[in-house]
Amino acid sequence: TETISVGELAKRMGIKATDLIKSLMKMGMMVTINHALDFDTAVILASEYGYEVENVAVDLDEIHESAPDAPETLIKRPPVVTIMGHVDHGKTSLLDAIREANVIAGEAGGITQHIGAYDVELDGRKITFLDTPGHEAFTAMRARGAKVTDIVILVVAADDGVMPQTREAINHSKAAGVPIIVAINKIDKPDARAERVKQELMEFGLVASEWGGDATMVEVSAKKRLNLEELLEMILLQADVMELKANPDKLAKGTIVEAKLDRGRGPVATVLVQEGTLKTGDFCVVGIHSGRVRAMQNDRGEKVLEAGPSRPVEVIGLSGVPDAGDVFVSLKDEKQAKEIATLRQIKQREAELAKHSKITLEDLYKQI
Ligand code: GDP
Ligand code: MG
Repeated sequence: TETISVGELAKRMGIKATDLIKSLMKMGMMVTINHALDFDTAVILASEYGYEVENVAVDLDEIHESAPDAPETLIKRPPVVTIMGHVDHGKTSLLDAIREANVIAGEAGGITQHIGAYDVELDGRKITFLDTPGHEAFTAMRARGAKVTDIVILVVAADDGVMPQTREAINHSKAAGVPIIVAINKIDKPDARAERVKQELMEFGLVASEWGGDATMVEVSAKKRLNLEELLEMILLQADVMELKANPDKLAKGTIVEAKLDRGRGPVATVLVQEGTLKTGDFCVVGIHSGRVRAMQNDRGEKVLEAGPSRPVEVIGLSGVPDAGDVFVSLKDEKQAKEIATLRQIKQREAELAKHSKITLEDLYKQI
């Protein structure tokens, strides 16, 4: 059930909080300014001051068709991949190599933009890469309850082997229940020892399939562009095994991958759509912000009108800059979007007030 603080209700009615507290005392309630009033009490109080209270405390999930999707509505969706591994083992190089190889094969003249995610195509099938390598992004998102990654590519340099951050990446992936594909990188180097890497990984239960295990390991070189297509094939194979599906025919739900304030365009956020289809003109709620999708573009800077499941798009039209990991939800109704965002702002403010203010009952009586 939703609540509103005494202070907030007073503010919204344009009266002093102390007056409201006095009214509450007459009702037999001894409360402080941060006390959370339930809806019924708020209505009674407001009516005393000549206001009518509308219950905007709507459950977001109710609006957002949260019922499980019927199997027949589900279609295959592209896998979402995160690259992890020890520093200098070639995460950035691998991401760049995959992307560049794909851009050349794809449409000409596309100027790549950094939006925090991009997709590549192999034999008409798409793969989405989150290009925020490193564990921080992965763990930060997970800490916020966001599950965006389907598959982790663990990059291990063949000339360096398993290192502390390799271990961390394995642990994070396992904790998140995300399957790992190992990319043994830098095999072009004379001192590359791929076999030793495989040996070391056995300690973590990652046994290469050619050694009788079930871990997929691909020997690559980001620098010389070796076996990149094979790596993409393995990702698609893994995706097939996982039977990744989503319903594209409903309002969009997704996660913020990255967001910033752009001088000219205002708040700009990259949304990874996870369910439904995001369309230009949609109303939305993201964290404590609301908005209307004014325009969308992909990582090639091209205008996009729609984005289905697993597609990353940069969105403009939000009222503020959300955090990475925030849930993005499209709504039919602008009023609803604004109300939910306002409610969340109130809650956030209340939580902050409760944290910072040390107001006691005695202080309050002094005030009165
Ligand atoms: P990250 O810290 O994991 O993102 O690693 P980088 O992509 O920045 O790469 C670290 C260094 O390794 C750079 O100097 C790269 O040029 C080099 N490097 C990356 N991949 C390869 C490769 O396949 N072969 C060789 N020889 N060098 C590579
Ligand atoms: Mg890097």
